[in-house]
Amino acid sequence: MNILILGSGGREHALAWATRQNPKCDALFCAPGNAGIAEVATCVALETENGQAVVDFCTKEAIEFVIVGPEAPLAAGVSDVLRDAGILTFGPSAAAAQLEASKAFTKEICDACAAPTAGYARFTQLAPAVDYVRAQGAPIVVKADGLAAGKGVIVAMTLDEAIAGLEDIFGGAFGAAGAEVVIEEFMEGEEASFFILSDGQNILPIGTAQDHKRAYDGDKGPNTGGMGAYSPAPIMDASVTQKALDEIVQPTIDEMARRGTPYQGVLYAGFMIKDGQPRLVEYNVRFGDPECQVLMMRLGAQALDAMLACAAGTLDQARINWADDHALTVVYAAEGYPGSYEKGTEISGLEGLNAEGEVHVFHAGTKTEDGKVLAIGGRVLNITARGETLKQAHERAYAAIDKIQWKKGFYRRDIGWRAL
Ligand code: ATP
Repeated sequence: MNILILGSGGREHALAWATRQNPKCDALFCAPGNAGIAEVATCVALETENGQAVVDFCTKEAIEFVIVGPEAPLAAGVSDVLRDAGILTFGPSAAAAQLEASKAFTKEICDACAAPTAGYARFTQLAPAVDYVRAQGAPIVVKADGLAAGKGVIVAMTLDEAIAGLEDIFGGAFGAAGAEVVIEEFMEGEEASFFILSDGQNILPIGTAQDHKRAYDGDKGPNTGGMGAYSPAPIMDASVTQKALDEIVQPTIDEMARRGTPYQGVLYAGFMIKDGQPRLVEYNVRFGDPECQVLMMRLGAQALDAMLACAAGTLDQARINWADDHALTVVYAAEGYPGSYEKGTEISGLEGLNAEGEVHVFHAGTKTEDGKVLAIGGRVLNITARGETLKQAHERAYAAIDKIQWKKGFYRRDIGWRAL
């Protein structure tokens, strides 16, 4: 079949790489794609948030299956338009994408199905929110309701920080995303992510991961979109995993179906785990980036079969053949990221790094010009490795990254430290 992937990051390169390995895939397209994706797919310029434009392209190229990577086209309802046009689509409807687009909505769902999460209150006015924070005391967590690219969350250790955060949000720092605020109890514990496919009714877990959000070694420096990740997450042992499925994930899927907005796609659940008990921190309605890279490295070609079953509503018949393996990815970023950075700097030494089943370099922000690979983004490459142990995956990833020459790049040397 002909397949189209929407997106342009390392996540989409990993999805394209895994999809390409499956014999069910005839032609593979990616919009807009990047220099790495161009090695496995035909990259096309398309307005990815315009559902009709995507449908028209699918008709022209006889596309039978669309995989939606990022949240923006999902929130814009591209999955709905594709499904209405009769095209098999992997990705939730705009109504189900509310699980990421509104933190207040997710809290409502947790209340409705009694899923363990932080206690909370919702406000649309500054004064009562400040009164509430003073009454609760610090530490406390203040969140803009809507999508704010990870910047709308203030984990406040003092009352002053919490109040300053509220003033920022209600002052318009996040526009409409800050019209409502959710104030949460501060949860202690260790964080992990869990990825589950759902066809609206059935679920299929496809792996756990942990990431590193801070820019520098020792989890220091500013917050980023993620500097590395590994899978599986040791803290998600069999008992925590079962509790997460029984108490949080399946009840959420059931509640979404009960409301007439079934959830179909990958659900990315972030948990805080303490004393063997997971509590929900957040949902995202797409794969994490760079978590997707480690998941695809472990799943390979079978990822496509699982995504197809998910879209077709036959997930009850799908299985994952797990190898007893580990994967780890290191993000190579442009100097200055997450602040401002230079674009167009040259990267060399990428030839011969990929080794089947062991190492793959996924591209996130690159382009090729006159045969040279140039960095054009903040997070630029994801050096991803697989091994029988996490230590082996770690060694393989760092052995590969050390061969890359890029004067204007930096990466963390300690990805996976907690698990190693
Ligand atoms: P991102 O897009 O970066 O994942 P987000 O905007 O969706 O962020 P959350 O995931 O809700 O926001 O919160 C970001 C981070 O803040 C979490 O990963 C966690 O480390 C911390 N955090 C959020 N809520 C709580 C809480 N109630 N207690 C403790 N820490 C929290």
